[in-house]
Amino acid sequence: MALSCGQERGIYQNQLPPFAHKVLISDMLCWVRSLALVVPLLVPLSAYAAGPKAVEVSSMTPSSLRQNANPSVPAPKRQVGAIHSVVAPMLSFQQDVGPGLAGRVIYVDQTHDIVLAPKEVVLTFDDGPVPKNTVSILDTLDAFGVKATFFMVGTMAHDHAAIGAEVARRGQTIGTHTYGHVDLSKLAPAAAGAEIDKGVAAVAAATGAMPHFFRFPYLSESRGLDSLVAKRNLIPVGIDVDSIDYRPASQQVLVNRVMAKLAKRGGGIILMHDLQARTANFLPSLLTELQINGYKIVQLRPGERFAASPPAGFP
Ligand SMILES: [Zn+2]
Repeated sequence: MALSCGQERGIYQNQLPPFAHKVLISDMLCWVRSLALVVPLLVPLSAYAAGPKAVEVSSMTPSSLRQNANPSVPAPKRQVGAIHSVVAPMLSFQQDVGPGLAGRVIYVDQTHDIVLAPKEVVLTFDDGPVPKNTVSILDTLDAFGVKATFFMVGTMAHDHAAIGAEVARRGQTIGTHTYGHVDLSKLAPAAAGAEIDKGVAAVAAATGAMPHFFRFPYLSESRGLDSLVAKRNLIPVGIDVDSIDYRPASQQVLVNRVMAKLAKRGGGIILMHDLQARTANFLPSLLTELQINGYKIVQLRPGERFAASPPAGFP
């Protein structure tokens, strides 16, 4: 079995300081070796992204990965929607976190920090919070002992502030999704920036937690919009597996769809919507199926650079 950096010291275990590896010089060579493993993966990833089989909204590597990529690897053509996690088949992370579904925590400073080992998934819920379904989802997550990221819409957080606060109180990760769920690509840069800021402020006010993660409504993204988000120290998070839970489907169809896409990809970030009753209803079945099939649910948390520096313009 391939070992990952720091595995023997359990760096990826939750109970140890998350940034310990950054001060361990002995780990540096290990990380260099890991990088050597990861960089060649960009070639097949690019091929996957550009290929006709990439029929989902995922279709490109994150801009941060492109910047770090070997210059000999051509940057994939930008399309709407983005892959924002990489499943690295040659990497493995110690999963000494118990027999259940809960996996490790990834501390994220930049999007490209989201590197998943096979069978690792990230749960994300967009467009809430809402009173009934969001609470049901929180209860299910607690029952399975796992954490997700909630990309809240500002107006929803404003209207259902107590539910937003409950999401934070339960230790879930908070993200934003603009104030009014508008397609930012249709706005002038100043208006798009204002929409992002207003969303951050509304979610922060409701939850009491400063959101550092961001998802573009409709996954509508561009270089200019990426720049706006980066200036605000927000971390854009895309999707790898769309549950398509916004369309009517039986629980079994939803579970099978997600499991099939995960199996094809190896793992990834799953898009769901806590607005939907069907999502609240099918979540227990999905988590059960993930557990049976040996998946681990990884939680994203803001990384080291956010400890001392909230997003610009906010206390
Ligand atoms: Zn949305």
